[in-house]
Amino acid sequence: MIDFISDSVFASAVASLKRLIAVPSFNSEDSAVDGAPFGVGPRAALDEVLAIADDLGFDCFCDPDGYYGYADVGSGDSCFGIVCHVDTVPAGDVSAWDFPPFELNCADGVLYGRGVQDDKGPTVAALFAVKAILDAGFCFDRKIRFIFGTDEEILWRCLAEYNKKEDPIDLGIAPDAEFPLIYAEKGLQQSYLVGAGSDELMVDVVDSFNAVPSAAFYGGARLDDVKKALLARDFAFSESDDGITVLGKSVHAMNAPEGINAVSRLAIALADVFPNVGVLQFFKQFDQEAHGANLLGNVFDEASGQLTFNISSLQINADESRVQIDLRIPVTVDHDQLIQQLSQAVEKFDLKYVDFDYLKPLYVPTDSDLVKTLMASYQDVSGDRESKPQISGGATFARTMPNTVAFGAMLPTTPDFMHQANERWSKADMRLSMKIFAEAIYRLCVK
Ligand SMILES: [Zn+2]
Repeated sequence: MIDFISDSVFASAVASLKRLIAVPSFNSEDSAVDGAPFGVGPRAALDEVLAIADDLGFDCFCDPDGYYGYADVGSGDSCFGIVCHVDTVPAGDVSAWDFPPFELNCADGVLYGRGVQDDKGPTVAALFAVKAILDAGFCFDRKIRFIFGTDEEILWRCLAEYNKKEDPIDLGIAPDAEFPLIYAEKGLQQSYLVGAGSDELMVDVVDSFNAVPSAAFYGGARLDDVKKALLARDFAFSESDDGITVLGKSVHAMNAPEGINAVSRLAIALADVFPNVGVLQFFKQFDQEAHGANLLGNVFDEASGQLTFNISSLQINADESRVQIDLRIPVTVDHDQLIQQLSQAVEKFDLKYVDFDYLKPLYVPTDSDLVKTLMASYQDVSGDRESKPQISGGATFARTMPNTVAFGAMLPTTPDFMHQANERWSKADMRLSMKIFAEAIYRLCVK
């Protein structure tokens, strides 16, 4: 096996990462301008990464509307995509950082900065892995296309735009998760159930779609009866001057069955007190079973496991009642049929199903050439033959492209600092990731 990643290639990669980290690129679309639909930060980072790719001699293109860019190298009948993103989440509480977040710093062999793990570091690692193969004197027999998104952390409008305007790639990787690789990501459906309003009670608890709510406040009518209902069901709550807060345990929606849903618990207690409110009866039937089995039966496949079903809001006022739901749908389950089944199941509670957002599943079988080659490259470089290809309820850009899996760039042993203060990635891990990328791309794209 060739070790493509020399000291000088690695040093150049770190120097380029420094350029990219120095451009804050969290979403600021309230200040969007022409050519910068998500604000000037993501656009500036797009320009910077294209400048880095241009320095490497790649053919670069920037979408005139500023949604995405790409950099091409090599040629051939098919196109191997490397799908990345240059937007990040904000720095958060800057006082929690040991170094300025928008400055690449290195301490004890560890690189610090917003985006070093997600996804600027992996992006640069993959760029220089390709460069290293060229430096070693090889030519590619496919076109390699880096696609740079600018809206991964919010709504993925960048790649929706790419898919509208550009030809699809033939196969590829998204280096925005973990090695060895993720070959199946469940379908992700976020929706509302909307029904009649109520003159009897008012509730307004809203959490984000993708989290199991850990608290649900109620300060409305028949508070004492609601408390009794909670006590009778042994549901924990705290009291304050203006009402009660039902307590739960928050986890990511993709792990909803492992959480305790405070909204569900409040709704079930309210249903005991207000039996005529349709939406509350829905919660009673659902009965906190976060695979949705009480509503939809056992929705399951061999490839990716069970459906997860998270409920993250309850709003009832005089005009309407409304809940928001997040479904992670097994990869081979028919989406339209499931939604039809759900629409019918909620009808008896006078609820209407309203679509909000859908991301189709990712599924590339483990016996495909792509998965086999990526796995073998990972195993041969890292020596790790224990880790298995993964399925995930989460979402990466891989699912926006055909025949594409999430591949790296974090090792199974790399601590996860994505979206956190002091986001960091050790140089040793970054260099090993580059080596894995280079080996895989060499096997897939060199004659
Ligand atoms: Zn990411």
